[in-house]
Amino acid sequence: MRDVIVIGAGFAGLSAAVELSRRGASVLVVEARPRLGGRATAFTDGATGERVDNGQHVLFGCYRETLRFLSTIGADGHVALQRDLETLVIEPGGRAARLRCPALPAPWHLIGGVLTWRALSLRDRLAVFRLLRPLARARRDVSDAALADETVDDWLIRHGQTPRLRELLWTPLALAALNQQPSQAAARSFVRVLVELAASDRAAAAIGIPTRPLDELYALPARDYIDARGGEVRAGSPARVTHDGSRVTGVEVGGEAIASRAVISAVPWFALNALFESGSPPGLDAILKNAARLESSPIVSVNLWFDRPVLPELFVGLPGRVMQWAFDKRRAFGADESHLTLVSSGADDVQAQPNDAVIALAERELRDALPEVGAARVVRATVVRERQATFSLTPGQPARPATATLLDGFFLSGDWIDTGLPGTIESAVVSGHRAAEAAWRALPSRADQKATKTPIG
Ligand SMILES: Cc1cc2nc3c(=O)[nH]c(=O)nc-3n(C[C@H](O)[C@H](O)[C@H](O)COP(=O)(O)OP(=O)(O)OC[C@H]3O[C@@H](n4cnc5c(N)ncnc54)[C@H](O)[C@@H]3O)c2cc1C
Repeated sequence: MRDVIVIGAGFAGLSAAVELSRRGASVLVVEARPRLGGRATAFTDGATGERVDNGQHVLFGCYRETLRFLSTIGADGHVALQRDLETLVIEPGGRAARLRCPALPAPWHLIGGVLTWRALSLRDRLAVFRLLRPLARARRDVSDAALADETVDDWLIRHGQTPRLRELLWTPLALAALNQQPSQAAARSFVRVLVELAASDRAAAAIGIPTRPLDELYALPARDYIDARGGEVRAGSPARVTHDGSRVTGVEVGGEAIASRAVISAVPWFALNALFESGSPPGLDAILKNAARLESSPIVSVNLWFDRPVLPELFVGLPGRVMQWAFDKRRAFGADESHLTLVSSGADDVQAQPNDAVIALAERELRDALPEVGAARVVRATVVRERQATFSLTPGQPARPATATLLDGFFLSGDWIDTGLPGTIESAVVSGHRAAEAAWRALPSRADQKATKTPIG
């Protein structure tokens, strides 16, 4: 009998399993797909034979639980984290200006960054002061009901943010953090992100770029950590939950029943109902219905390989374009590669277009932004579509569930659990750590377990 079975090997499931292994629990992770990592993974592209990430992932200094998880598994060196937020932004007309935050205590470093940003007029820069009071209020209490009903754009306009400040700063940030257009996403998660970025620590807003393919970044080191502590991670193992109506009894994988004291679901909202295909306990009805109703938001990534290096930076922001960011993948995939990834978040319109059109658009936008691409030639290209990249944050979406459920011993994790954060790595890891804590508390203590195994007399 296992102590805990974790279903799903993405950031949530692996962080839960690592935390439980660290505490000494016996853990089995079952993953449906042949590869680990879920929505943050890497694979070999069939058309080009190249290794690619399923999409560029960016971390921030405020991803505290994620950085702790990476450090536990010895992978904290797999992310290049800036000291202070800094990014080159190239406007649609081609004008480039660097947003650089000075070495001031938080949140003055962010304000200082905006105040010295040449891309903006004085009036645009000064508008940032109008956010200070609402953010201070939100830091104390983010439960303001209005934030759930109004969109990010409504909230920014209500607080005097000028069209240019929104176009160059807030829209790219909202798209990156929420994966949804600011005209669609509810303000609450965005305000929470701003509160986190402007936290007491200056490094909170610094950007972290993975220096490995995503599976090597965390999934394989996490598997090794779990293996080394007597646990197991099984890929290619789609699981269902087994229960007696009131208590979880374990999982079933390919006809094999595996017993455990607790089960943690770390599957996305769109895969939860399938865990109970053979019948769900009545206590889970509302959670399953809400998960089925929760909508998704897509991300489309275009990988371009040029015949020579073309990007002067590790990444550049491209506001006002369909492809909002461009990343140089050489740090993660090897120094000889001239591999770039261009990202379109909140990509409802793009995802329906054929590959050739999306690749042509990405190349056109890149050449337009960076005249220095000049005579460089694209030698290979591929498109990765993630239709269910993150859950939708539009007002009116169903409530996100808590960790504990009415089925005894069954706990929920995943980026879509109610962490208050948008669908991000940090939300997944926060939820994984919470589920690990709850499952750990539900286990009989080590002494009790020994007593039940050793009959008295
Ligand atoms: C292209 C893209 C770009 C992104 N960019 C960023 C970014 O820059 N920064 C950021 O913070 N976040 C980003 N995200 C979001 C981030 O990837 C997710 O929030 C995070 O990876 C979710 O982790 P998770 O463990 O909750 O879920 P998942 O990664 O989806 O893991 C769930 C796992 O459960 C498995 N599973 C499902 N059903 C079963 C079953 N029955 N049995 C066994 N296993 C099952 C799935 O196969 C999957 O591996 C991005 C997402 C995408 C797709």
